[in-house]
Amino acid sequence: MSRSQITRGARLTQDDVGRSTAASSAGAAREDDGCTILHVDMDAFYASCELRSRPELRGLPVIVGGDGSRGVVTAATYEARRYGIHSAMPMSRAKRLCPDLVVLPPDFGLYTEVSAGVMAVFRDITPLVEPLSLDEAFLDVAGAVRRLGPPAVIAEQIRARVHDEQGITCTVGVAATKFVAKLASTRAKPDGLLVVPPDRVIAFLHPLPVSQLWGVGEKTEEVLLRLGLRTVGDIAHTPVDTLVRALGPAAGHHLADLAWGRDPRRVEVPEGEKSVGHEETFPRDIDDPEVIRRELLRLSEKVAARLRAQGVAGRTVSIKVRFADFSTITRSRTLRSPTDVAREVYATARELYDALGLQRARLRLVGVRVEGLVDADEAPRQLLLDEPEVGWREAEQAVDRAAARFGRGSITPARLVAGPGRDDDDHGFGGQPVAPRPR
Ligand SMILES: [Mg+2]
Repeated sequence: MSRSQITRGARLTQDDVGRSTAASSAGAAREDDGCTILHVDMDAFYASCELRSRPELRGLPVIVGGDGSRGVVTAATYEARRYGIHSAMPMSRAKRLCPDLVVLPPDFGLYTEVSAGVMAVFRDITPLVEPLSLDEAFLDVAGAVRRLGPPAVIAEQIRARVHDEQGITCTVGVAATKFVAKLASTRAKPDGLLVVPPDRVIAFLHPLPVSQLWGVGEKTEEVLLRLGLRTVGDIAHTPVDTLVRALGPAAGHHLADLAWGRDPRRVEVPEGEKSVGHEETFPRDIDDPEVIRRELLRLSEKVAARLRAQGVAGRTVSIKVRFADFSTITRSRTLRSPTDVAREVYATARELYDALGLQRARLRLVGVRVEGLVDADEAPRQLLLDEPEVGWREAEQAVDRAAARFGRGSITPARLVAGPGRDDDDHGFGGQPVAPRPR
């Protein structure tokens, strides 16, 4: 199955997934190599949400919108679009175009709920999710490839899960850059998948009308058309100086870059979502610092394992402490370079805890969090400067592999199995791992 073709409707089966994984592990070049940016967009989102509970309306021209005299269309099924109906069109005009139109009032509570379910599917794949609206997001899946398969396979997993769990369809564009991924999903709609391999970006872009480029609104389009530039290819073959004179330096360089497929923008996770954390509420309040430290170690391990599973690393480690009276404090420290190593997360969490000097304060909850996440592939270069750290990272990756085979918990840092009484300076990772037992 060629993934440079638009795939519509049909989804890859488990067998296909197995075959593609086998092909990639055999070293065969895949079209989606390097295409780690996904743009996922729900099809006719509001209308699709409504049709979940109204299957009898499937296949009919349906729109969602305000039905008053000044109402506008907020979503239209593809059946309705065939009549020339589109979003933002006045309701009266839509009804003239299609007298049999089914008009449903909007239910934003429902759309918000379905959106949360869809975004949760994305965040299961990678924490590097940049939502653009309720029904649309960029994902960077570079860190998920080893775990889940090549980008096109991940894209099919997302399409299948959104369909099975949320009862709606979506389209995915797969490319090396954000704007090409977005153009690919636009091209493949509805219920489709399109991979644009890096060596086919120029052939994909150049025939497109200039209005398709990110940042080209009506005004810019007018200027470009006046210069005789109709396609993206026309822009590509115009001297940058000419573009700069007509549009100013920022827009001129921006369009020249896009026309050659250059888009350095990364997937940006909104502030407040760039973190992986775990916390534990104790069954009864705890005042023993040794028990607290052991809990911080356990949480650090969970956090680091999740960072590694998702292919990310983070620079800021924070702890949260809630006292018996529910007052809560957090403390954080930023490291020299991003980490996904439990030993380092724990060492920092423990320093932060010890610095609080809590003596025997009664705690009801502790938490560990790592923030400022980046793709782990960007972190190792820095980690390599620090040999011992690399050693720990490899050791913990070996534990990940064993855990994948035998179940997490089959290998435990020595500190946790040895119980209290071990040397405090040994951060709990010094012992030999307990031999894995198949379960
Ligand atoms: Mg959409």
